[in-house]
Amino acid sequence: MTPLAYLQQRLGTPPCEDALAEYQQWWETTGRALSETIDRWGTPTLRQHDRHGARVDEIILPAGYITLVQEGYRHGVVWRVIEEEDWAGSFTLGYLTAYYDAGLYCPHTVSLSTAVPLAKYGSPVLRERYLPQMARRDGAAWQGATWMTEVGGGSDLGAHVQTVAVPDGDAYRLRGAKYFCSNVNAELAVVAARPQGAPGGVRGLALFLVPRFLEDGSLNYTIRRIKDKIGTRAVVTGEVDFHESVAYLLGSAEVGVYLILETLNISRVANSVGSAALIQRALDEATAFAQRRIVFGKPLSEQPLMRTQLHRWRDTLDGAFALAWESARLLAEVWAQTPPYSPRYHLFRLLTHLAKYWTAEQAAQAAKWCMEVHGGAGVLAEYGVERLLREAMVLPIWEGGSHRQMLDALEAMQRRGAHTLLLEHLAPHADPGEVHEWRTRIDAYLQQPAEAQEAELETLIPPLAAWVARTLSQRGARQV
Ligand SMILES: Cc1cc2nc3c(=O)[nH]c(=O)nc-3n(C[C@H](O)[C@H](O)[C@H](O)COP(=O)(O)OP(=O)(O)OC[C@H]3O[C@@H](n4cnc5c(N)ncnc54)[C@H](O)[C@@H]3O)c2cc1C
Repeated sequence: MTPLAYLQQRLGTPPCEDALAEYQQWWETTGRALSETIDRWGTPTLRQHDRHGARVDEIILPAGYITLVQEGYRHGVVWRVIEEEDWAGSFTLGYLTAYYDAGLYCPHTVSLSTAVPLAKYGSPVLRERYLPQMARRDGAAWQGATWMTEVGGGSDLGAHVQTVAVPDGDAYRLRGAKYFCSNVNAELAVVAARPQGAPGGVRGLALFLVPRFLEDGSLNYTIRRIKDKIGTRAVVTGEVDFHESVAYLLGSAEVGVYLILETLNISRVANSVGSAALIQRALDEATAFAQRRIVFGKPLSEQPLMRTQLHRWRDTLDGAFALAWESARLLAEVWAQTPPYSPRYHLFRLLTHLAKYWTAEQAAQAAKWCMEVHGGAGVLAEYGVERLLREAMVLPIWEGGSHRQMLDALEAMQRRGAHTLLLEHLAPHADPGEVHEWRTRIDAYLQQPAEAQEAELETLIPPLAAWVARTLSQRGARQV
């Protein structure tokens, strides 16, 4: 089944259907080959100096890469949200992108996660200067990036963000370094840093917009190196050094950590949508192989054990898509809220943590299973099946790892009572007995000592996420 056919099946008439059809056609005729070439042979390189010795930090991209990445911008992965508030259009385009190239959805995602805080919190001058560039449809859209993680670690940003922002007139100057910088070739980045004199911990962090080049064309920061990764080769990930780099504060520093989390939450929704797409791809590849492969006198797909697995993965796909789509739907509803948030926002947060956690874990398992279905052929680089596993392995790690998602889901329940909101949200569509059972189970869980609540999280979050996914899937997806 094509990704568009699946979207049509789940959503009826998907938003921007014509654009989706055109984009899918482009993938089939052009994008697939570019993506495969870049994955296997397209290593980007960093040219730090020009031949006269001047620092230029030029990323030499493989042939075809710009076309590959810009096609999604042309179709509207960013401009549909910025100009039309059409989140559904953006996420359905993302679904198609991730079906063909899960790593490529990263540049699109981080560009969206740059454009939205800029649109929401940037000064009129910044918005006017940069948003039209990000919304370009001519194949030259400016890209964004979201850089929070430093060398000490990404989960505990409060302890490990050492980058300092020193006030300088209307702007700030950043000193520090970022250790994981995806889309390092982007023209703009949103960066977590601590304003000089701000308190320690996450509450002292703020979000800054940092252009790659200054007005005179000179470099605003330097790129130390490009990382060598097992997958996601359609996004260039590097390390960056800030030395007195010009940065613009987004929103208020007092609530900066919330802005950082808002940014990450957009990417988490996209990660969930992309994970569902990767599950579909794995299921499609496995089905196509199993229908042709003859074992013990009949097609592998007709063997009872394989038939059960194929059905189970189809159910998992429907659950993953429904969960991802519900978090997208809620994001479209609450994205403009600012702190302090409404209960609806806390419902969105809980659903998003469950979705990011569960869909990414399922995607990694789906890719592994798809490889197994192909037997030895699944391991060979020439067939592209092993690529799904290489792409999938990062989905549970970036944008906050699976532990982080489980812990943040717990926090939303402990501090905001978000489980009550979730159960109320699901009640019209769920079995009343199951809703009652979950209410009792979560209430009892939250009575335990704090350490036990953390230690036993794997007994709570995976089955809760699976139940929410199943319930939403049975209800059927609704339009954003
Ligand atoms: C390809 C790639 C691209 C990336 N791009 C970006 C980017 O563009 N911008 C950016 O900011 N970051 C980026 N990252 C970084 C990513 O967000 C981090 O890797 C992630 O947040 C985890 O941080 P860490 O690797 O430092 O692991 P750590 O924070 O050191 O965590 C190590 C392990 O401990 C677990 N853990 C943490 N706390 C707990 C706890 N309390 N209980 C139990 N387990 C816990 C984590 O889940 C993880 O499994 C990228 C990573 C990769 C691999």
